[in-house]
Amino acid sequence: MFPARNGDALLLTYDGAPQCSVLIDGGYKDTFDNHICPVLQAMAGRGACLDALVVTHIDADHITGILRLLELNGPFRSSNIIPIRLVLHNSFRNLPLDSDAEASFSKPDLELLHEIRSHGHRRPNEVDSEISASQGSTLASLLRAGDYNWNNGDGHESISSPNVIALPSNVTLTLLGPTITRLTALRDWWMAKIRRLGVAGMIGQMPLLEDVFEFMCENEPGIARLDKELASHANSTTVLQDIYEPDESVTNSSSISLLCETPNSRILLPGDCWAEDLESALSSGIDLAKPFDAIKISHHGSFHNTSPRLLRIIDSPRFFISTDGRKHGHPDIQVLKEIVDRPAEFERHLYFNYRTSASRFMASYSSKSGTPFIVHEEVDMPVLISG
Ligand SMILES: [Zn+2]
Repeated sequence: MFPARNGDALLLTYDGAPQCSVLIDGGYKDTFDNHICPVLQAMAGRGACLDALVVTHIDADHITGILRLLELNGPFRSSNIIPIRLVLHNSFRNLPLDSDAEASFSKPDLELLHEIRSHGHRRPNEVDSEISASQGSTLASLLRAGDYNWNNGDGHESISSPNVIALPSNVTLTLLGPTITRLTALRDWWMAKIRRLGVAGMIGQMPLLEDVFEFMCENEPGIARLDKELASHANSTTVLQDIYEPDESVTNSSSISLLCETPNSRILLPGDCWAEDLESALSSGIDLAKPFDAIKISHHGSFHNTSPRLLRIIDSPRFFISTDGRKHGHPDIQVLKEIVDRPAEFERHLYFNYRTSASRFMASYSSKSGTPFIVHEEVDMPVLISG
């Protein structure tokens, strides 16, 4: 789990023969330059590759480091950093459209679309200020120009659940989300939004629209904290049941949510997905009787994305929480308390990639059920996960 500030960047490596590695999200540009890139270069030096690169959804805290990776890596067939065998990512190009017609726009429409594109990528701070809005700077255009194996093809098809992707050494990625319904809702939300901005023409395949779509999704703010006081760390007597409110972000609901299985472990990787979607995906065909070997908590530990109901069906000895705590007050202590308060026959470990007020709080917290747990802060070393 790389230090990705308020975002995610996770590398999974299965030591089979051959080794199998999956990178999930890339945090920010500095996450890539300072942390991910040296690791990938060392892997490539040993002859390893990325068997899959998963970009869970379009949000700056997940994609900016991946933009940097693709910019530097160059095309699929002659990679400068590391060979990437497969990219899983949903963008405008592979969303279900109503017709195959070519896009057609009036001059005012085109001016408006160019205007939106000119705003470019979200710039969360100075470190990422050089990420540009120039043509070809989107993830979609980099994947297309680099001729990557995108969603097991040329990127014209979306990747959605149900679906199982087989990787080397009997590693599988089972898609738990998004469903095609969520991707269609994302398309409808975006189309309504550009209509409201005044774009009237025919929407169809067009590189300009790919850019506009990506920039608009990326710039979409998450939902505001519904009740800051209620969820604040100071109010430590509240429990998750008191404050849980489902997430309403359509971009979060489009997250690629995965169960990664190796011959000896099962790891739950939900991106920033909605708790209700994860509950329903897990209710069909996934063995919930035994704990997962590791769980990455959805959406940086937000109380909007882990419900009391979800925590009644999933458990694990290892929980990963990725955030520096600078955005939306993530992670919420009510989520963390609910995790460790449940009785279990095993000891739990909470892995934080930063020290935050929430991780500090948990370090001195006692489980209501007496189930032991250990808090690991500023985790920057690989964690061994074995079933
Ligand atoms: Zn996020």
